[in-house]
Amino acid sequence: MKDYITVIGGGLAGCEAALQIANKGIKVKLYEMKPIKFSEAHTNKNLAEIVCSNSFKSNLITNACGLLKEELRRLGSYLIKIADAVKVPAGQALAVDRDIFSKEVTKLIEENKNIEVIYEEVIKIPEDGIVIIATGPLTSESFSKEILNFLEENELYFYDAAAPIIEKSSINMDIAFFGDRYGKMRR
Ligand SMILES: Cc1cc2nc3c(=O)[nH]c(=O)nc-3n(C[C@H](O)[C@H](O)[C@H](O)COP(=O)(O)OP(=O)(O)OC[C@H]3O[C@@H](n4cnc5c(N)ncnc54)[C@H](O)[C@@H]3O)c2cc1C
Repeated sequence: MKDYITVIGGGLAGCEAALQIANKGIKVKLYEMKPIKFSEAHTNKNLAEIVCSNSFKSNLITNACGLLKEELRRLGSYLIKIADAVKVPAGQALAVDRDIFSKEVTKLIEENKNIEVIYEEVIKIPEDGIVIIATGPLTSESFSKEILNFLEENELYFYDAAAPIIEKSSINMDIAFFGDRYGKMRR
């Protein structure tokens, strides 16, 4: 049995996992393919790169996004702590400066004596020891094939949420109202 845990993918999930494990006193080997190889969306050499919106959505605990973040805070999430520290004005939402956020996560990971970061693309799932695969929706092509083989599946799926687009004239303004995330505008 190996005396370390392997984490593959140094994105948001992989970094949080590595920090949680390392801070329980267990050694971690964290594999990240950047800067050797970039996905279609990643451009930054740092870990925990936010690829699209810089918003982690609402901070209000009256909705699922906000409640989840509050639970993460209470459970001691390192990434949420950094996000709170580098937040930028976004009304009720938690939005961050993405460059500072990923730099701060990278610093915390690189300073952790229990974490060894290995910058290479993983193409085979290690056969022994505990392995966490956190390569995200843009997992490299060869590793996607390896995961497919391992799962004995034909396809992998990425479920994204898209805001619905609707005709204004279809909205019943007797029961609907205008609002925004900043001033809670109502009229
Ligand atoms: C185009 C696009 C837009 C998105 N927009 C949003 C949005 O606006 N809001 C939102 O909440 N979510 C968005 N998402 C989803 C977002 O990517 C996830 O919420 C978040 O990044 C997932 O974190 P993760 O750690 O799972 O993956 P990632 O943050 O993508 O991290 C995975 C890491 O694994 C590395 N990696 C991949 N393959 C290998 C390999 N074989 N070996 C080693 N390292 C590897 C990658 O380089 C990357 O650093 C978007 C996703 C995409 C693809």
